[in-house]
Amino acid sequence: MRIVLVGPPGAGKGTQAAFLAKNLSIPHISTGDLFRANISKQTELGKLAKSYMDAGNLVPDEVTIAMAKDRMEQSDAVNGFLLDGFPRNVSQAEALDEMLKAESMKLDAVLDLEVPEDEVVKRIAGRRICRNDSAHVFHVTYQAPKAEGVCDTCGGELYQRDDDSEETVRKRLEVYHTQTEPIIDYYKAQGLVVTISALGKVEDVTGKAMAALKGDGEGE
Ligand SMILES: [Zn+2]
Repeated sequence: MRIVLVGPPGAGKGTQAAFLAKNLSIPHISTGDLFRANISKQTELGKLAKSYMDAGNLVPDEVTIAMAKDRMEQSDAVNGFLLDGFPRNVSQAEALDEMLKAESMKLDAVLDLEVPEDEVVKRIAGRRICRNDSAHVFHVTYQAPKAEGVCDTCGGELYQRDDDSEETVRKRLEVYHTQTEPIIDYYKAQGLVVTISALGKVEDVTGKAMAALKGDGEGE
């Protein structure tokens, strides 16, 4: 299955992506991990991305797209993948379609996690992420680690990302509305969008998402 996961910041995308990828036996490909991997391995794309980041500029879509393409061509992704954080705008979605078309492949579903804005704000400040793996995500209230500040999965240190601070949430929501939300309409036109509520317990949301994906778009 080839799936794109979309949803506003605070929808629990990283957590859901990790569970869904495990349930579906496909790799979870997050943009954040792609950037970190390419930069730490000092690939050409990593060096290029870093040059933009060091200068305080946004990494151009072409660089992100090339990194995603590299990752999707690795052997563990032959039976599918779950994309998290990519595409993040219509131009990236169009590039992804072209990329897949060239390989005679297509997306199976676009899972849209819905959550009210006030809930987003509540959720974000409590989020904690593992320094070793951004797929290890916790929340001080909703999914507390057994020991404060320590990852249950690998023992790594948990931290709050700078852009998870309350003051930047509104700004991130605005960027999501203007940049990323239009891809939902783009994919709706292809009949790919499955919308589920991201409210409730993590495992319940995963269950709803799995049921909707198995229903092959019936949840739309
Ligand atoms: Zn960890």
